[in-house]
Amino acid sequence: MNNIRQITILGSTGSIGESTLDVIARHPDRFQAFALTANNNVAKMLEQCQRFKPRYAVMLDAASAEQLALKISAGGINTDVLSGVESLEKVASLPEVDAVMAAIVGAAGIRPTFAAAEAGKLVLLANKETLVMAGRIFMDLVKQHHATLLPIDSEHNAIYQSLPANFNGDLKVSGINKILLTASGGPFRKTPLSALDSVTPEQACAHPNWDMGRKISVDSATMMNKGLEVIEAHWLFNAPAEKIQVVIHPQSVIHSMVSYVDGSVVAQLGNPDMRTPIAHAMGYPERIESGVPALDMFKVAHLDFEEPDFNKFVCLRLSYEALKLGNNMPTVLNAANEVAVESFLNGQMKFTAIPAMIEHALQHVACESIATLADVLATDAHTRLVAKEWLQRHNHHHGELSYSSSN
Ligand code: NAD
Ligand code: MG
Repeated sequence: MNNIRQITILGSTGSIGESTLDVIARHPDRFQAFALTANNNVAKMLEQCQRFKPRYAVMLDAASAEQLALKISAGGINTDVLSGVESLEKVASLPEVDAVMAAIVGAAGIRPTFAAAEAGKLVLLANKETLVMAGRIFMDLVKQHHATLLPIDSEHNAIYQSLPANFNGDLKVSGINKILLTASGGPFRKTPLSALDSVTPEQACAHPNWDMGRKISVDSATMMNKGLEVIEAHWLFNAPAEKIQVVIHPQSVIHSMVSYVDGSVVAQLGNPDMRTPIAHAMGYPERIESGVPALDMFKVAHLDFEEPDFNKFVCLRLSYEALKLGNNMPTVLNAANEVAVESFLNGQMKFTAIPAMIEHALQHVACESIATLADVLATDAHTRLVAKEWLQRHNHHHGELSYSSSN
């Protein structure tokens, strides 16, 4: 019994969280859900507690935690219900925990993900925003506390699998020429720039290959997701911006590649299902079943590749710029993007205003060095104010948005 890995899932009610529980359920002899956490989805959390019987359930929202606690005790389930960010940090760092799946969406994930690293856990990182906001600080923390970091993001997991086993963070020593980061191109790959003005949140969230949460779906539509992933790859693999090339590959079968100086290109392929990278990281170094069907090459038949259009996908250009500027600029990029995506999803602004808001923030927040998590959170908070001010002025000049009148 004592070699069953105790897993905390930060964001268990989300898309990655549910896929993680699916893998856990296939391997009761290997894994146990120790703690599950969510923002405010009481109904789903109750179901998960009934099925997985975790030691702890944490709801960020106190009222949701109260509701859940009543139902848990009425159901006779032996799960302690907690609330608040401190409780998220606690269940990410308790001594009983072996691994933490960091799958909260956005900047909200940073504090519990930091807590897991500080406690020296095996950190399974889906929350790419942590690395974008605080890459150097987080990587230093992982090293300092002897935590282990394994990437869940499908591209980074694929790169990890395509690197030599003894990769020590030096591309040159390993004979690596470039990292080829694949991108599906999202739902608007073929939509002309002139038509992007009037696309709706529903269209933006209809991803051709992947079924994901709404924030990352919009990020895929703007290609900001790929921009965030360029920065994520920079920190995970110690690769400068010019060594990370984005390759559009509409089928999402190749999840990324590593190009070596001898002309070899090593890739990882598979069906687009996050249970593959999740099972890879959870079982590592062993291979375990994930529930994902084997790739049928005859069904795939074609693999296509295109160059990305940096004029149409402005967010991709801005991400490279923020990475090259360094300091707090990636933090600014991330915070402005979160405000922009939320404003777009709420119907407060057009799809094409997303890069405009982010560019404004990058130009109006001072470029400063950051050394601590407090610095990161201060930049994050300040950028959100700058972005919201921009939105107010923008809507004042352009009028409120109405989808029905725009087409
Ligand atoms: P999601 O929206 O489906 O789920 C988010 C989870 O976080 C939910 O459990 C929600 O309750 C919780 N949450 C939301 N706000 C919170 C807050 N303020 N405090 C605490 N918990 C909060 O998102 P997702 O698609 O599962 O993505 C999660 C993360 O994984 C993101 O960082 C995303 O970029 C990354 N990721 C997702 C995929 C995918 O296929 N979905 C792929 C690669 C990377
Ligand atoms: Mg990805």
